[in-house]
Amino acid sequence: MNIILFGPPGSGKGTQAVNICENLRVPHLSTGDMLREAVASGSDIGKKAKEIMENGGLVSDEIVLSIVKQRLASKDCESGFILDGFPRTINQAKGLDSLLEESQKIEYVLRIKVDEEDIIKRLIDRGRSDDKPEIIKNRFKSYNSQTQPLIPFYEEREILFNINGMQEIEKVFEDIKKVIGI
Ligand code: ADP
Repeated sequence: MNIILFGPPGSGKGTQAVNICENLRVPHLSTGDMLREAVASGSDIGKKAKEIMENGGLVSDEIVLSIVKQRLASKDCESGFILDGFPRTINQAKGLDSLLEESQKIEYVLRIKVDEEDIIKRLIDRGRSDDKPEIIKNRFKSYNSQTQPLIPFYEEREILFNINGMQEIEKVFEDIKKVIGI
C-alpha cells in the first residue's frame, strides 16, 4: 500500500506512520528524518538544509525531491511505503507524480486534523530543537501558505481522507485502519 500522511507540524504523523509501517511491513519515509540525518552527517545537502530547518522554513523542493527520488528507488519500497512530511508543496506533489511508477500510485492521503492551540502545546512539550515558540510559529506559517493547498489538490483526486487527530493515539490508529481497510 502506498500512503501519504498529511497534517500540520505536531499532528502526530510520525507516530501514526510508525504504527502503520509496523502493521503493513512497509518502509517509513520521513523527509524530516532524512533531512535531520543529512544535517547530522554534515553532507552538502545537510549544510544547505540546516539553517532553513532551524528557522522553521521549508527546504528547497529540488533538495527534497532528490532525496525522495533516491529513497523511492530502493528495493524495499517495492512492497509499498508511507510518506511522512512529504509532499509539502504543490511543486513537490507534482514532482512526486512524475517520480512514481504505475505500481507506486498513491492510494490514500490521510489528513490528520487537529486543533492549532492543542498542537502548539504538544510541540512545546516535545522540546525538539526546532520546537521553540518563535520557530513553531514559522513552521505553521510555512504549513498554512505552502502545504494547505495540497488539500484541494488531493481532494480532487478523491484520495484524501480526514482523520480526527484529537483523540488518543490508539483511537487515531483505529480510525486509520478503518479507512485503509486493514
Ligand atoms: P514537523 O512536521 O513536525 O514540523 P518534520 O520532521 O516533518 O517535522 O520536518 C522538520 C523540518 O524539516 C521542517 O520544518 C522543514 O524545515 C524540513 N522538511 C521536512 N520535510 C520537508 C519537505 N517535504 N519539504 C521541505 N522541507 C521539509
